[in-house]
Amino acid sequence: MRCIFCRNDRPLGNEHILPASVGGTIVIRTVCTGCNALLNANIDEPFSQSLFVRLNRCRHNLGGRHDRVPHVFAGRWEGADGTRVIVDREFRARVVRSIEIRDAGDGITCTISVRVDPSDLGDLDRVVADPLRAKLAGRFPAWPQTRVDAAVAAVVERVRQNEPVHHDTELRRTYEEDMCDIRFEFMKIAYESWARRFGEQWADESRTAGVMRAAILSRDTTAAIRGTLGCAQIELPGIVPEEHHVIALTPEGFYMSVFGLAAAFNCEEEMPQFRPAVPQLIIQNFITGVVIERDMVPWIAEHTGDDGGAAAP
Ligand SMILES: [Zn+2]
Repeated sequence: MRCIFCRNDRPLGNEHILPASVGGTIVIRTVCTGCNALLNANIDEPFSQSLFVRLNRCRHNLGGRHDRVPHVFAGRWEGADGTRVIVDREFRARVVRSIEIRDAGDGITCTISVRVDPSDLGDLDRVVADPLRAKLAGRFPAWPQTRVDAAVAAVVERVRQNEPVHHDTELRRTYEEDMCDIRFEFMKIAYESWARRFGEQWADESRTAGVMRAAILSRDTTAAIRGTLGCAQIELPGIVPEEHHVIALTPEGFYMSVFGLAAAFNCEEEMPQFRPAVPQLIIQNFITGVVIERDMVPWIAEHTGDDGGAAAP
């Protein structure tokens, strides 16, 4: 058995058709460990790190191989007014404490601005007074202690009266998504599904296989594979699109849907022996891991109108 990607006789390892990061459990042993590592770095990892995948894993509480649910919104944010906020994994926001002293330039007067979290209100001596006193003593050695104490007391009092208040500051963060990261993963799923269905012979003889393989291995965005990402999600009777990934091999091409995002690749398979006579359907519930693999037409017939007729008197 030779590797379906490099076509060399090398040691083979386990390869997930749908990545483990999105709950995939269908494993093939037709990819060599070298290609597996390359595909993991070039295709699977960028896909797993995409906002699309992290958002959906967060939404469905999918821990993946390492049992860690990504939290897209956790971390540091900066508000429009300059307030820095830390959002934790339970979506609680906390203002980052800060004490800023700006000299007026004359060496004796300054402006002090303080930001604290509303939960700091009961502990202003430790959170504001002590650090502010230390900062002022270092900044203005000439100030008498009474002046430092008066300034600290005034600031603490002002914080107590005016701040902290709960207010809705607008938090913004810019995310960038390279749609190629999703496109190449979907193409890899298509290639591996096709190879799983038709075996080594397809990898060797099909022109479609050659084009797809070259495109995947080099992430070649100009490859002559006509495809569509983000078309309407595949609606099938008897499954909940929110919980299932779908792969369909049809005589016309390849359709799939991951987390409801659908893709179609018009693979233009020229060799009739590599066109499934009956479209084949692979459905995976990514929450339970259950895989259903059936011929599409009988499966749809089983899950549509027939029962309605039988129930009539
Ligand atoms: Zn290989």
